Amino acid sequence: IPVEFKKALPIIKSLEEAGFEAYFVGGSVRDILLGKAIHDVDIATSAYPEEVKSIFPRTVDVGIEHGTVLVLHEEDQYEITTFRTESTYQDYRRPDQVTFVRSLSEDLKRRDFTINALAMNQVGEIVDLFEGIKDLESQLIRAVGVAQERFNEDALRMMRALRFASQLDFKIEKETLVAIADLSDLLSKISIERIHVEFVKLMLGKNRVGGLLPFIATNCFNYCPGFVDKKLHLQKLAALPNYQISEEAQVWLLVLHMLEVDPKECRKILSEWKLSNAMIKQVTQLLVGLNFRLTQPWNNQKLFEIGLINARLIEQSLCYFDKATNFTILEEKYQNLAIKNSHDLAVDGKILMNHFNRPPGPWIGKVLAKLETEVVVGNIPNEKIQLLDLATRCGD
Ligand code: ATP
Ligand code: MG
Repeated sequence: IPVEFKKALPIIKSLEEAGFEAYFVGGSVRDILLGKAIHDVDIATSAYPEEVKSIFPRTVDVGIEHGTVLVLHEEDQYEITTFRTESTYQDYRRPDQVTFVRSLSEDLKRRDFTINALAMNQVGEIVDLFEGIKDLESQLIRAVGVAQERFNEDALRMMRALRFASQLDFKIEKETLVAIADLSDLLSKISIERIHVEFVKLMLGKNRVGGLLPFIATNCFNYCPGFVDKKLHLQKLAALPNYQISEEAQVWLLVLHMLEVDPKECRKILSEWKLSNAMIKQVTQLLVGLNFRLTQPWNNQKLFEIGLINARLIEQSLCYFDKATNFTILEEKYQNLAIKNSHDLAVDGKILMNHFNRPPGPWIGKVLAKLETEVVVGNIPNEKIQLLDLATRCGD
């Protein structure tokens, strides 16, 4: 039993001592069996939420209507979820009703894929009702039960199948894949926020191409903002070298670049994906910078505009286009910039107003921009006297 589970054992034991059943479930059991690192340990129990709360001194209600209570234990926290079934999914996205049950098998039955429907007890024995271990060994994503029914209940599961294919580098089992292709239009009922989470996980996974190809082949892409009728572009995206992507901003950079999105159209698509303003701004800058860098080396002006962090990410992205990267030159050029941002300029608006004895107005921004450019490209040093001299000569 791995250390993460050992630390959580007292929780399972306390539940059992109080007369309930308790198991490790879900992704952590799967990942342990795969020999992978685990991030969160989920526990399922026959105890109802109120019963869980009465057993542990420190708890937080995180989703009590779904049966989930957070238990704080030493420096860790664990999600304890009551065994439950989900019935009558009328809107194809979330259960109309969650029913707490006392049986583990009912709980495992409602889980999405066989490899996610494994439970482990406190001595490390695995409960495997749907041949999940066999599918782990043959590296298959297979729906629990009848795939069509499961995707009809919750269409998000189709996107989950695709992202697990990428994350785990597994294949999607034939009938499960056919069901996704048949039912892809149910994704139109799913909120874009939830599709977003799964799509980004797919793109960040270790076999991105293995997730993207079925994403395209099953037509799921047609229910994503900006992807409609972009099959050929997406196929080009899937044809990029399969190096693992490091962060979400790079996901959107590569996606928008391959979709040949104009940086001016960037905001529209990315806000449909519900990205934060900060992310939209960053991706737009990255897109402009990548287009630049793909055709020419860095220069002072571009580096100043883009900034070091984004420039590094762009440089690193060159590998997807079989272009040589050169971080040494990038770092050197950046370190040699006379100013790294506008605040570094040796004059500011106040100084200009004093010097010219003029009231504030748009002229200040214009002059500062001019001075900034001249300093960045190296035409004049960043010194007050020379900057003011230039400002005077420019007529303002
Ligand atoms: P990750 O490593 O990304 O956390 P995970 O398998 O733990 O993967 P979660 O989204 O954390 O995925 O869900 C935990 C478990 O809950 C899953 O393993 C699965 O058993 C179940 N589950 C989650 N979402 C669904 C769903 N939409 N339908 C059915 N079961 C689900
Ligand atoms: Mg999880």
